[in-house]
Amino acid sequence: MCGIVGYVGKEQAAPILLNGLAKLEYRGYDSAGLAVRDGESPVEVVKAKGRLKALEEKTNNGLAIKGTCGIGHTRWATHGEPSENNAHPHISDDYNVVGVHNGIIENYQELRDKLVKNGYEFYSSTDTEVAIKLIDYYYKKYEHTPVDAINHAMVRIRGSYALAIMFKDYPEEIYVARKD
Ligand code: GLU
Repeated sequence: MCGIVGYVGKEQAAPILLNGLAKLEYRGYDSAGLAVRDGESPVEVVKAKGRLKALEEKTNNGLAIKGTCGIGHTRWATHGEPSENNAHPHISDDYNVVGVHNGIIENYQELRDKLVKNGYEFYSSTDTEVAIKLIDYYYKKYEHTPVDAINHAMVRIRGSYALAIMFKDYPEEIYVARKD
C-alpha cells in the first residue's frame, strides 16, 4: 500500500503535493507522480521511477509545474513492472480523465478487452489505466457528469481500491472513490 494526496486551493499545488507524498514515504513505493492543472489549461503530468527525490528534482521541488489543483501518487506495483510508464497518474487519450489509484482491479483484463472493442488503446501494463479509461468511456456514453461516470465504472470494477480523479471539463475539482 502506498499513497494518494490531493490539493485544491489558492496555493501552488505541486510543492504541497510533494510535501504530502513525503509524509507517506514510510508506507513504501517504487515510483511517484503528479498531475496538476492551472484553471482551464490542460493538465500537466510528471512521473519518475524510484525515490520521491527523483520527482522533486524533475520538477524543481514542484516549482516547475504551475497550477492550484492537483493529485499525487506513490505506487507499489501490482500490475506491470515499476517504471515511469506504469507510474501514476494515468490519463485517457484525449486528456479527458486523469487519475491515481491504490489497490487492485481484479477484473481488469475483462474490462480492458471491453474497452479495446470500443476503440481504446493502452500504453501501460497497469490495471489503473483500465479504470481511468473505463471512467472516460462512461463519461462519454452517458450524462457527462463525473459522479455518474465514476458510479457506472464502480458497478463494473471488482476489487478494492482508492481513486482520485480529475476531469478536463471540471477545473478546480477532484473526485474520489474507494471500496474496501
Ligand atoms: N494496481 C496499481 C498498479 O499496479 C496500483 C498499485 C498501488 O496501490 O500503488 O499500478
